[in-house]
Amino acid sequence: MKIHNFSAGPSILPQSVFDKAAQGVLNLDNSGLSILEISHRSKDFIAIHEHAKALVKELLQVPDTHHILFLSGGASSQFFMVPLNCLPQNGTAAYVDTGSWSSKAIKEAKRYGQIDVLASSKEDGYKYIPKNYTIPSDATYLHLTSNNTIFGTQFQSFPDCEIPIVCDMSSDIFSRPVDVSRFGIIYAGAQKNMGPAGVTLVIVRNDMLGKVGRDIPSMLDYQVHIKGDSMYNTPPVFPIYVSMLTLEWLKDFGGVSAIQKANEDKAAILYDEIARNSLFSAVATEEDRSRMNVTFLVNDPELEKPFLDLCKAGGCDGVKGHRSVGGFRASIYNAMPREGVEALISVMQQFEKQMG
Ligand SMILES: *Cc1c(COP(=O)(O)O)cnc(C)c1O
Repeated sequence: MKIHNFSAGPSILPQSVFDKAAQGVLNLDNSGLSILEISHRSKDFIAIHEHAKALVKELLQVPDTHHILFLSGGASSQFFMVPLNCLPQNGTAAYVDTGSWSSKAIKEAKRYGQIDVLASSKEDGYKYIPKNYTIPSDATYLHLTSNNTIFGTQFQSFPDCEIPIVCDMSSDIFSRPVDVSRFGIIYAGAQKNMGPAGVTLVIVRNDMLGKVGRDIPSMLDYQVHIKGDSMYNTPPVFPIYVSMLTLEWLKDFGGVSAIQKANEDKAAILYDEIARNSLFSAVATEEDRSRMNVTFLVNDPELEKPFLDLCKAGGCDGVKGHRSVGGFRASIYNAMPREGVEALISVMQQFEKQMG
């Protein structure tokens, strides 16, 4: 039976990417060598790295003002690298607290300067995206988390502001078009929507850097990585390779506008079923709900385990909600086909029949 993987991350990748990655492990492009053993300075890997960067640039239309880096340390390292590199000791950065990941980013940033938390939906279980706050024009940057992987909310648009936006896009990068020119920094761990765990994409605008006058360890210094073209040290070769394959798949799919349509369609049919089905209710406020991570509860908590059992029997894996929210979470990233979502919907309908 085909297993549909709804895991929040590491998560589903296209089958064709698994096939090509497996081939690359055995014999990369008929070189007689494995992607796992070649030098990061080899001609083959340099071509892979250049192609991966070119695909990021093309798919997101990254302007020439922005550098594209592939770093290690996860999105979590960006929580401190951003303020370390960009926030002067006497400066202030503005943050919006929309979930666990943004609150972790806030915690780390506080080590490096003044942090102004403009708004938070914490008191309401992060069920919505705060609006109507004032963005201070003298702050160094505004930090947002575009999609809240755990609670299932998402910025449908980004606030207008004069200061640069820094955005953690770990769980919705490449899921829709974004105007990169509006962002000072975009960062994303690969393992939700771009590739396997082990590499983090960072897109950083020139003018964000060189202003803090702080002694930054080389490995944590964006300028060192820019100068070294992500090869100051050994880069995560295999995750970059698989990310390149995934971005090729996305390009063949028609790019981010085409995948956005598919993502909206998948999310719509699933949210419609949650609304229709008498057993379930959605977690996130309708206007802010995520197209990537669909969170929902069963009205009777006693039914949680039986539903998860039925999901398993129906070939739907990874539907259990995050421990801080409970209930269920279906992560329907780019690589999740409509048939996967339809399979989950049919399990929900079967469950309603059984219980009703
Ligand atoms: C998963 C996730 C992270 C953490 O990523 P790591 O690569 O594990 O450090 C950060 N932010 C968001 C929005 C995430 O979804």
